[in-house]
Amino acid sequence: MAVGEKVITVNVDKCIGCRACQVACHVWNNTPAILTGFSPSFTNPEDLTPHTWMIMKFKEVEDKGGVAWLFKKHQCMHCSNAPCAQACPVGAIEVHPSGAVVIREEKCIGCRYCIEACPYDIPRFDPIKNKVYKCTFCVDRIQNGLEPACVAACPTGTLQFGDYDELVGKYKKEGYEVYGDNVNDYVGHTHYVYVTKRWKGKLKEYFDLPADPRRPVIEFNKNVVRPLGWGLTGLTLAALAAHFVFWRAKRVEEKKEKGEKQ
Ligand code: SF4
Ligand code: SF4
Ligand code: SF4
Repeated sequence: MAVGEKVITVNVDKCIGCRACQVACHVWNNTPAILTGFSPSFTNPEDLTPHTWMIMKFKEVEDKGGVAWLFKKHQCMHCSNAPCAQACPVGAIEVHPSGAVVIREEKCIGCRYCIEACPYDIPRFDPIKNKVYKCTFCVDRIQNGLEPACVAACPTGTLQFGDYDELVGKYKKEGYEVYGDNVNDYVGHTHYVYVTKRWKGKLKEYFDLPADPRRPVIEFNKNVVRPLGWGLTGLTLAALAAHFVFWRAKRVEEKKEKGEKQ
């Protein structure tokens, strides 16, 4: 990885589902919590919203003849290729050297192309503000030498923040299974990285981490529609230029016939 790249590692073996990270995210970013009422699941709210940029997801799986409870921190993965940023037509999404992928609120025009491009289903549209929102990697904290708020709040050491190669390398050396350091050509690597020893071989399946995340519509857009669009733009300009040349020649001819000066 490039020098200066940071990572937040999520050691799912240590998480106790306390949701201190979820609360810290709201507090630091001053995003209002919503009243959700009764929920059939412990995941609350049940999904991300324009003002809830991360949630803890709760899930039960069969384990050794019994049931195991899994907790997964869910937020923007901060992809190195950042398909959301590539899809944004006005350059409202910045990719920082740390790896943080950040939506510049004042530039966002609410077109929602980023939502279509994201293979992890992360950005959320706020119809009142006509803007899209998501986790910022706490770029405002890390630029000032602080850890992201969720990391600082985590009481179990599940979340760690640091130099990408150093931290991910440490987990690999210790024999952990890792998700995120080399996902695929669509997202590149992610700056949230999940690790486990307990669930080795089951990390992707149990924690809903897709092996090959991509959005075919966007790939089609990038590989077919856009080049076609450029081709059509070129043809249109060529047609306009030809039209102008013919129009000009005709005008000159008409003026000649009338004996006017050209
Ligand atoms: S997870 Fe989605 S929103 Fe976050 S950087 Fe990747 S493509 Fe963009
Ligand atoms: S990095 Fe910051 S914005 Fe992202 S989930 Fe953690 S606290 Fe929230
Ligand atoms: S604060 Fe840490 S232990 Fe608590 S839910 Fe979040 S990641 Fe898990």
